[in-house]
Amino acid sequence: MSLLSVTDLAIHFGGVKAVDGVSFDVQAGEVFTIVGPNGAGKSTIFNLISRFYQPTHGKIVFDGEDITATPAHHIAELGIARTFQNIELFDHSTVLQNLLVGAHTKRKATWVEDVLHLPRTRSNEREARRAVEEIIDFLDLAAYRDKMIAGLPYGVRKVVEIARALACEPRLILLDEPASGLSVEETNDMAFWIEDMKKDLGLTVLMVEHDMSLVSAVSDRVLAVVEGKPLALGTSAEVQSDPRVIEAYLGT
Ligand code: ADP
Ligand code: MG
Repeated sequence: MSLLSVTDLAIHFGGVKAVDGVSFDVQAGEVFTIVGPNGAGKSTIFNLISRFYQPTHGKIVFDGEDITATPAHHIAELGIARTFQNIELFDHSTVLQNLLVGAHTKRKATWVEDVLHLPRTRSNEREARRAVEEIIDFLDLAAYRDKMIAGLPYGVRKVVEIARALACEPRLILLDEPASGLSVEETNDMAFWIEDMKKDLGLTVLMVEHDMSLVSAVSDRVLAVVEGKPLALGTSAEVQSDPRVIEAYLGT
């Protein structure tokens, strides 16, 4: 069953066709990766799915629901969370505080709390904390739990970004270049986290990535996008050996 279905997606910025007729289906439980040269439109596809951008054309369906016109602030509640190519965390808050913000974007206030403008109930708060502590354990972040983001090594901040997305309790997680700026060793760890998200948490992963060692290690299917257009779809090996893909990379 496909969890996410994108059909003939397009967005034009003035004369620039950043995304131009992209269609793909992401099956529940798979790791689906989008590759392509810089400027190919990969992050823009993420911005369209997470509804930061309104498509010029096309349709986005998540879990059977048409979300093409769904406001961005409802996306997390539906079960889609994302990370950013450039890390977006609260630098002057701790890891724990950042994750609690993530948890609250998903956990809606009850009707009574809404009507009376009350803060969230203690039980809700406790539940959010418990979920966040589990994520801290899962991603091995216990040593950094009460540390300020600003003082953390880059590789740890990348993992915290994933933790923040997980705190929204998504079914689909969008990872924009999770290995960028990471060492070989950190990239290997990232591959394990992604595998664990799929196997242990049952998550569906949609990823954009340049590091082909990571792409090959974790991807069930790969879509190559060039100049906003889909070029090849298949296994990592199939896509990497596709002559059109090789030519597109050499041409940039
Ligand atoms: P990638 O992530 O594949 O490197 P992007 O999706 O970031 O590429 O960008 C694809 C193209 O869309 C680029 O030419 C970029 O300049 C353009 N683009 C992206 N967002 C905007 C925007 N908000 N306004 C104008 N142009 C944009
Ligand atoms: Mg990008």
